[in-house]
Formats: sequence, C-alpha cells, structure tokens
Amino acid sequence: MPPVINPKKCVACGKCALICCMDVFGPTEPKTVPLVRYPEECWHCRACVMDCPTGAIEMRYPLTHTLLFRDAPGTLKKEGM
Ligand code: SF4
Ligand code: SF4
Repeated sequence: MPPVINPKKCVACGKCALICCMDVFGPTEPKTVPLVRYPEECWHCRACVMDCPTGAIEMRYPLTHTLLFRDAPGTLKKEGM
C-alpha cells in the first residue's frame, strides 16, 4: 500500500513528489497537498517519508510485507560442514 499524507501536517512543499523516482504522486499542483495517484507503483523505499520536513507521511505496508517468515528446510548449512 502507498504512503498516506496527513493534510494537517503537510505544508505542500512538494519534496515527496520530487524525490519519488516511481512518480507515485503523479503530477502535482504547486502549493497543494500531493495526491497519491499511482499507489500500485510504490515500492516502499521510504524516501518520501525520510525527506518530508514535517513528518506528514506514513507508510501502509502490504500484509505480505509484515508476515513472519521461516527458512525452508534444507537451506541452512549445518554447523561444521
Ligand atoms: S516509498 Fe518510495 S516509491 Fe513509495 S511513494 Fe515514497 S518515495 Fe515513492
Ligand atoms: S514532503 Fe511532506 S510536507 Fe512536503 S508536500 Fe510532501 S507530504 Fe507535504
């Protein structure tokens, strides 16, 4: 899932739209809160989150990114081998 912008914190600086190499925010109007136009393009790099000067962006991660995982049997080397 895409970034979510809190409009109460956003100062419409446009940095997030500039920094996103995937153009998730699409074309943005100057001095307006950016719209997340292409959420399916987000690859969750968090660059927009880190560059937002007011902390207005939160990430929503797909469920598959939050599940626990375990190594498949036979993929770990045994000690001493
Ligand atoms: S997390 Fe990365 S890819 Fe997703 S909107 Fe932010 S900068 Fe773009
Ligand atoms: S970087 Fe943050 S404050 Fe600037 S437009 Fe994006 S969400 Fe708003």
